[in-house]
Amino acid sequence: MIGQMIRPRVGYGSLLSAYVSRTLVPTSSSVPASIHLTCQSRSCSNGSSGSSDNSGSGNKSVYNWFNSNDITRNMAPSDIANYLQQTHDRVFESNRAWADEQKKKDPEFFAKLSAGQSPEYLWIGCSDSRIPAEQISGLGAGEVFIHRNIANLVVNTDLNVMSVIEYAVCHLHVKHIVVCGHYGCGGVKAAMTPKDLGLLNPWLRNIRDVYRLHEKELDAIKDEAARYNRLVELSVREQCRNVIKTAAVQQSYAKNQYPVVHGWVFGFEDGLLKDLKIDHKQMLNDIQKIYNLTES
Ligand SMILES: [Zn+2]
Repeated sequence: MIGQMIRPRVGYGSLLSAYVSRTLVPTSSSVPASIHLTCQSRSCSNGSSGSSDNSGSGNKSVYNWFNSNDITRNMAPSDIANYLQQTHDRVFESNRAWADEQKKKDPEFFAKLSAGQSPEYLWIGCSDSRIPAEQISGLGAGEVFIHRNIANLVVNTDLNVMSVIEYAVCHLHVKHIVVCGHYGCGGVKAAMTPKDLGLLNPWLRNIRDVYRLHEKELDAIKDEAARYNRLVELSVREQCRNVIKTAAVQQSYAKNQYPVVHGWVFGFEDGLLKDLKIDHKQMLNDIQKIYNLTES
């Protein structure tokens, strides 16, 4: 039922949006034969279809291997390898130009980077390609330690994000931890879509859980877009709470009065960050009745 409350909407443009709003493996003759082979030779099963028969209409893949924005969709197979080489080389050309520019601006730039890092911020953001953390925050190299995943989730069984928080707090001694979500998040949208997304299901279920926790408030919002935006904000808030639940954050804060946790949301329409004004101290007090881990 929850999924029906937020229906797929065209226009957000993320890969995850493409997953949930488009059809499965296409059979169009415009698709390069090599790509067909790749798709048909890979098992895309969600567990419910154990059949090895991937040909014909019986294919129950949960994945859509094509993105409608993908320029290679209409390329001749022989052009694709060249295109891949060019897009690879472009990064190295840009890298050389960037390195030259940095040296021109500050001859000591790379000597300083080599000396080590002492960032003031830990940024936990969405993997969405449209949100370059350093650029939108104006933070430069060495100023922000970054972790990104789908829908900027802080899951306590995820060794990756937990290791990042532990390292950032206990070794780098960051002063701020920012959980930055964004409106139009494909991960949040996918979570609220009634569709089996295979391996993504357990990850995205964390967002469904946020919906369940705030079901009353969300269901009272009649406008679908507004409800969806509110879920993005509530999820960021829950992830902030998850950060504060960690022993590293609680113990460091008890000793040093930092790090403080912030929840921000980025908007594509104006490029601005909205501060959800998380009250770190209040949130800490609220959770410590149950989650107090200050004794080591
Ligand atoms: Zn996102």
